[in-house]
Amino acid sequence: MRRRLKAQKKYKRIILIQVLVILALGVVWVLCTKCNGTALQATNPVIESASSDSLPEADSLVDNPKPSTIEDENPDTADKDFLLGKTDFSHHPDFTNLESRYGTAGLPIRKDVYNAFKEMYAAALEDGIELRILSAARNWSRQRSIWEGRLNSLGWRASMSRQDKVRIMQQALQYVSMPGISRHHWGTEIDLNNLEPSYFTRGQGKRILDWLKLHAAEHGFYQTYTDKAETGRTGFSNEPWHWSYKPLSQGFFQAYLRHVSYTDFVGFTGAELAEDVQAIELYVEGINPILK
Ligand SMILES: [Zn+2]
Repeated sequence: MRRRLKAQKKYKRIILIQVLVILALGVVWVLCTKCNGTALQATNPVIESASSDSLPEADSLVDNPKPSTIEDENPDTADKDFLLGKTDFSHHPDFTNLESRYGTAGLPIRKDVYNAFKEMYAAALEDGIELRILSAARNWSRQRSIWEGRLNSLGWRASMSRQDKVRIMQQALQYVSMPGISRHHWGTEIDLNNLEPSYFTRGQGKRILDWLKLHAAEHGFYQTYTDKAETGRTGFSNEPWHWSYKPLSQGFFQAYLRHVSYTDFVGFTGAELAEDVQAIELYVEGINPILK
């Protein structure tokens, strides 16, 4: 009898141990699953930012998906070549060509900017103002030829001292951008009606500028290179003709500061002196503060 009781006790103990082992295994399994999920999120940015098109199961892996940013919506903001202007606009889906009624026919222009401009154009026309686009998107090669042409006209020679070269570059940079720092690369900027500052000081030119200052912001456009004395900005001189489409250019500007550095400036006259003239700090960053 005692032996039977003893056997029953032993049998119960074995069952209890088995239950405890199963429970312990269950806890370990749950912990591991959680642990893997966290590690996957932390080490795999592709999963975190992948669109549901490319990775349907991504959502189920991420408890708190990253909030949408400009960078997610526009792949160009993370593309350094695009930010530097190395773009073939004729093969880029976001670009088209300007029609003659809006300015110089055939100019490459960003579609979103074009649509916003057409609305602004119609509003201005109702007030007796005719806006005309003289320049819109310009790529790196186009800007290089403008830049090198300007340096040559100012007397640039390869044999000059570093100091003289810097002086000529600073002179050129009053109105002309070197390739790689022009906001026209992004397709967000438009030059309107006339490229002479004096045109905007009287008559129809002044009326156009006054209208833009009052109404352009209603359509997303802001003057990029404002009066330096008014805003305390550095860089290019006042350009009353140059307007930026802020809904897009703000994201490109911020991405530019994150992705581009002086080592990216190569392949044009004066490239090795870009840091001497502080091309990024004084010129890229020297814009109307409202666009930052
Ligand atoms: Zn411009």
